[in-house]
Amino acid sequence: NSAAKAPPTPSPLRFSKFFQSNMRILVTGGAGFIGSHLVDRLMENEKNEVIVADNYFTGSKDNLKKWIGHPRFELIRHDVTEPLLVEVDQIYHLACPASPIFYKYNPVKTIKTNVIGTLNMLGLAKRVGARILLTSTSEVYGDPLIHPQTESYWGNVNPIGVRSCYDEGKRVAETLMFDYHRQHGIEIRIARIFNTYGPRMNIDDGRVVSNFIAQAIRNEPLTVQAPGTQTRSFCYVSDMVDGLIRLMEGENTGPINIGNPGEFTMIELAENVKELINPEVEIISVENTPDDPRQRKPDITKAKELLGWEPKIKLRDGLPLMEEDFRQRLGVPRKN
Ligand code: NAD
Ligand code: UDP
Ligand code: UDP
Repeated sequence: NSAAKAPPTPSPLRFSKFFQSNMRILVTGGAGFIGSHLVDRLMENEKNEVIVADNYFTGSKDNLKKWIGHPRFELIRHDVTEPLLVEVDQIYHLACPASPIFYKYNPVKTIKTNVIGTLNMLGLAKRVGARILLTSTSEVYGDPLIHPQTESYWGNVNPIGVRSCYDEGKRVAETLMFDYHRQHGIEIRIARIFNTYGPRMNIDDGRVVSNFIAQAIRNEPLTVQAPGTQTRSFCYVSDMVDGLIRLMEGENTGPINIGNPGEFTMIELAENVKELINPEVEIISVENTPDDPRQRKPDITKAKELLGWEPKIKLRDGLPLMEEDFRQRLGVPRKN
């Protein structure tokens, strides 16, 4: 590889490797919800230089506004389905719409992002010798037949359904990661992320936590999709970012589940939001979408043992942390 053959004089190529000081980190999808929180945390370390590549499909420059113009930060408008030439030491590969309404909006683009986008980032990792972390998803388990889900479970996924562009896309992305690892010796890390929530979620992206909080603030009924007994396990974004960085810095390829094992039915979630944010609000039942997984809860034994990680923030503590950000963006201040 080019780093090994490089002359001993400093060259812009793999600059950081010559001085062993700064770490140059690419975050794809860094203008999105989880990506922007990850960038905040990475930028806190003065030895890190961060490059974000994002096409702003579901992300926004606003999420990164405090870093724009910072000497250790660079933002590139780039679609990962096109090749990217940059010189970096680590790649956090997050680029991909995560909310069902956005990933179903243009399913062909979603699968291209997962497959061609991941292939390009692996080609980049191979060329520059970078370590690459993929944010995969609990959706690789589909509508799971074992509960809670362990990493060794192969999943129960519909290959031709409306969610397949996302879940099969991520499954191929994981396959590509392992094939580049086995065939080309690339250092890989795979996180299987479970439902994550927190400030900066898109207000109208249709995900359940952002929907309920926005509805509670607007004093609109909380729309529980039938039957309402389906479960999810919600991880606060700061815990998620902590888990991703530990995985990147550790020695395990993964896949490793990163999520909060606290499991709630959608009815329980609605009741919590009602109690904490707007006790007056109504809870109603509405129609569901196809292929909705009935239950989901991570087994995080591996994350605990291998990364020394477990989430710290309980759902009832995390929901109020999101409220202020949503109130500001919706222009609805708290009454009292
Ligand atoms: P998000 O939609 O807020 O962020 C995704 C970012 O990727 C956005 O900024 C978007 O503009 C960008 N993007 C999309 N397609 C792109 C492309 N072709 N080229 C360049 N940029 C592109 O979503 P998020 O919740 O921050 O999710 C981040 C990652 O975590 C995704 O890979 C997602 O699959 C994964 N994940 C998230 C959750 C969750 O609950 N939020 C759960 C499981 C997995
Ligand atoms: N690639 C990229 N940036 C790089 C190197 C490669 O985006 O710095 C892309 C490249 O365009 C290719 C993909 O990554 O489509 C896979 O690259 P690889 O070298 O593994 O395969 P090949 O180019 O031999 O098909
Ligand atoms: N859901 C709901 N009301 C909403 C939006 C979603 O009850 O307004 C339910 C949905 O049916 C699913 C769960 O919440 O069972 C999680 O959906 P989300 O889209 O947030 O994430 P994912 O299905 O990807 O886990």
